[in-house]
Amino acid sequence: MQKGLLLVVSGASGTGKGTVCKRLLAESSTLFYSISATTRQPRAGEKDGVEYFFVTVEEFQKWIAEDKFLEYAEVYGNFYGTPIHKIEERLNHGEDVLLEIDIQGALNVMKKRPDGVYIFLLPPSLEELSNRIKGRGSESPETFARRFQAATSEIATGKKYQYVVVNDTVDSAVEKIKAIIAAERCKVNRNENLFENLLAV
Ligand code: ADP
Ligand code: 5GP
Repeated sequence: MQKGLLLVVSGASGTGKGTVCKRLLAESSTLFYSISATTRQPRAGEKDGVEYFFVTVEEFQKWIAEDKFLEYAEVYGNFYGTPIHKIEERLNHGEDVLLEIDIQGALNVMKKRPDGVYIFLLPPSLEELSNRIKGRGSESPETFARRFQAATSEIATGKKYQYVVVNDTVDSAVEKIKAIIAAERCKVNRNENLFENLLAV
């Protein structure tokens, strides 16, 4: 059986990572979403164990001490981390695992997991990025300015990724990510067993 893909989707805040990943998950039955732990407060409608595991700073530090994270980072004053539990198990069962994480976290995972598939989502323009951050309606003017400034300086980091997808429409971004998944599954280094099986006497 082919091992699952470790898909890492990141990009600047407000680009639409959450929106695109949600749609991708709804359309892909073999994709498993890795639920992160965070110390930030839940937003309206968010539930513990669905969007995130909402934990205290003390609990988060305990998880760090117990080596329970594949990576973790401080983002806009809160901690976020990817629990390692289950990821390897799912990949070994042929399920693809999706991490939707910030850029620092993605760069850390790149060092540990060179076999991962790293996708950077770009907004169609900075103006549209600003509209999307405002449109989300969850930012105060102060956090908006901080997020927008951080977002524009984060964009250049995207050159370190393997793939770039412009989130112009959700449909087209999702189609492009599906095409990346299909191409990755066809890579020779993920399919060496096909040659061995075919040529076995
Ligand atoms: P992120 O997870 O990257 O911070 P979100 O998924 O929360 O971003 O999206 C930010 C805002 O932009 C949301 O209001 C969302 O509805 C909107 N949005 C996301 N993708 C698109 C798109 N392709 N076209 C228009 N609006 C979008
Ligand atoms: P939000 O607070 O808007 O849900 O997320 C803020 C940022 O944290 C987003 O860029 C999101 O992708 C990122 N994030 C979510 N989970 C993780 C995680 O486990 N690790 C890291 N490094 N970043 C994360």
